[in-house]
Amino acid sequence: AEHAMYLAKSNGKNAYLFYQSGMSENLTRTMELAQSLLRALRLNEFSLNYQPIINSKANNIVGLEALLRWKHSKIGFISPVEFIPIAENLGIIIPIGEWILRTACTHGKQLHANGYDNMYISVNVSAKQFEEKNFVPKLINILNETNFNSHYLKIEITESTVMKDLEDLATKLRQLEDLGIDVLLDDFGTGYSSLSYLRKLPISTLKIDRSFIQDIHIDADQEAIIRTIVTMAKSLRIGVIAEGVELENQMSFLQDIDCFDIQGFLYSKPIPFETLNELLQNWNVPS
Ligand code: C2E
Ligand code: MG
Ligand code: MG
Ligand code: MG
Repeated sequence: AEHAMYLAKSNGKNAYLFYQSGMSENLTRTMELAQSLLRALRLNEFSLNYQPIINSKANNIVGLEALLRWKHSKIGFISPVEFIPIAENLGIIIPIGEWILRTACTHGKQLHANGYDNMYISVNVSAKQFEEKNFVPKLINILNETNFNSHYLKIEITESTVMKDLEDLATKLRQLEDLGIDVLLDDFGTGYSSLSYLRKLPISTLKIDRSFIQDIHIDADQEAIIRTIVTMAKSLRIGVIAEGVELENQMSFLQDIDCFDIQGFLYSKPIPFETLNELLQNWNVPS
C-alpha cells in the first residue's frame, strides 16, 4: 500500500513524499534526510567551512572557497555530495543557496574589515539555483544587505549548469560580469564542455577537477590533459586553479607547467570561519 508521508511546510505549501513498502534502505535514508533537510535551515544546522586557494608562487592565500556543512541532530555531519542533490530535488536548494550566499558575504565583509581586504570568497551555486529566474536580483539584494564588495565575490558553477539553457546562461554571466563577479567553472574536465566553446562565455577561471590531479606521476595521459587545459586556458586568457592538491610532487608538477593557483589538503582542509583568522595570520600580512 502506498501512503503519503507528511514532510513539512515549505513556503507555506505542504510537501509529501510517497512511501511504498519494500523501498530500499537507500531510499529510506534519502527520505529521512529529505524530511530533516526541510527543517535544517530553521534549526540552524548549516554552517560554512572555508578552504584556502593558494598562489604557490607568491606563497599566499588569494581566496577562500565556501563549503557547506550540515550537522544532523542524530546522524551528525553528512556530506554535501549526499544531501545537495536531495535539496535540489526538493527545491529547497533555493533558500539554502540564499543562506549560503548571505553568510559567505557576511564572512567576507568581516575578513575585509580585519585587514584581509584582498581576499576573495568563492561560492558554489547549484544548477537549480543559478537557473532560477530571480537569481541575479536576489544576489544583488544580498550584496546590498551585507555591504560586501561584489568584486571579491566569485561564483562556482559546474558543467551541468553550462550545458543547459545557453541563452539564459550567457545573459546571467554578462549580468554577473557587469557586477564585477567572476564566474569559475568547477570540476573542469569531468563534463563535456570544450574550451573553444568556453571562449564565447565570460568564464574567468577553470578549476581542474581533483581526479586529474590525483593521477599526476601515475597516469601520463592525465598529465597530458592537465598540460593541455593549462596551455589552452592561458592562450584564451582564462585562469586555472588545480583542485585537490595533496602532495608536494603534485604541486611541483603544476608549478612546472605554470599552474600556480592551487587548492587542496597539502595546504589546508576546509575549516570553520571561527578558526580562519589563525590560519590567515600565519600566511598573509593584513594591510
Ligand atoms: P567542489 O565544489 O568541487 O569542492 C571541493 C571538494 O573537494 C570539497 O569537498 C573539498 O573538501 C574537497 N577537497 C579539497 N581539497 C581536497 C584534497 O586535497 N583531497 C580531497 N580528497 N578532497 C579535497 P566537500 O566540501 O565535501 O564538497 C563536495 C562538493 O559538494 C563540492 O565540490 C560541491 O560540488 C558541493 N558543495 C559543497 N558546498 C556547497 C555549497 O555551498 N553549495 C553547493 N551548491 N554545492 C556545494
Ligand atoms: Mg567548488
Ligand atoms: Mg570542484
Ligand atoms: Mg565537485
